[in-house]
Amino acid sequence: MRGTLTTREFELQQGLLGALERKELVMFYQPQIPIQSGQEGKHRAEVLIRWIRDGQIYAMPGEFIPLFEQQKQIAKLDYYVLEETCARLKRIENASGYRIALAVNISRQTAEQPGFFEFCSSCCKRYGLSEKALELEFTEGEIISDYQKFSLLLEQLKGHGFRCAMDDFGSGQSSILELQKLEFDVLKLDRMFFADDASKERQMVILENVIAMAKMLHMEVVAEGIEKSTWVKHLRRLGCDYIQGFLYSQPLNELAYMDWIEKNRYRKSLYSEP
Ligand code: C2E
Ligand code: MG
Ligand code: MG
Repeated sequence: MRGTLTTREFELQQGLLGALERKELVMFYQPQIPIQSGQEGKHRAEVLIRWIRDGQIYAMPGEFIPLFEQQKQIAKLDYYVLEETCARLKRIENASGYRIALAVNISRQTAEQPGFFEFCSSCCKRYGLSEKALELEFTEGEIISDYQKFSLLLEQLKGHGFRCAMDDFGSGQSSILELQKLEFDVLKLDRMFFADDASKERQMVILENVIAMAKMLHMEVVAEGIEKSTWVKHLRRLGCDYIQGFLYSQPLNELAYMDWIEKNRYRKSLYSEP
């Protein structure tokens, strides 16, 4: 049944599971740049999926992730990405000697599946990886139906060394409530915080206090979607730990990401100014 889907959505929906089987869903990596001193040399990136056909980007996650979610098939993709991420991490570590931490996006639907923790755990064991190499990003897009259950899952994951991040903080409606109830390790500030220049007093007061609050809750802070260099000095001063955005790098395919690491290995200036 096509229902109210557009032709494009119908096409994407029909192709989703085949795309997974044909390995058309490809992992890209967007570096997260440490901006405080003492963190130099750490390599972190977020894994972002692109649907590739005939060597070109055929669809972006904003188009196909909601379709996977509607079809209740998102866990298939998330499990695939988790498995592949562990495999790549091991491969990169063996080939280059770099210790890299990768963040993977996990839909709430996936996190709520029985056996999710066990899957993450067995993945790390199978590839001989430290759990610390893997960060799990949970978006606050969907309202959590059962805080207690989610809180137990976080406790279990963190107890075994996985890092857990709250993604897109500030973009949804339940941010503060979730922060109050759930003990994440990392807070990812949504890019809407940084849409304007760093010139509006009101905006800076809010940002300053959000970062201060995260620090008091012993969380690391990642600012997402940074495009303008003026933000770097403000974010460093406010105590933000990492910056992720087009200012430093677009999401890159694996080869380009390995190149990026190699090129930026000794560039100390990267950690002070862009
Ligand atoms: P996200 O996890 O918040 O990822 C950050 C998004 O911001 C990415 O969009 C990235 O390309 C974009 N971005 C990064 N820096 C900049 C910037 O400076 N300016 C602008 N305008 N955008 C920037 P992308 O790759 O289109 O992904 C969209 C969303 O799709 C992700 O948002 C994430 O929620 C979801 N997603 C991606 N891969 C997966 C996956 O494997 N599983 C699940 N469940 N969701 C995924
Ligand atoms: Mg994310
Ligand atoms: Mg985000």
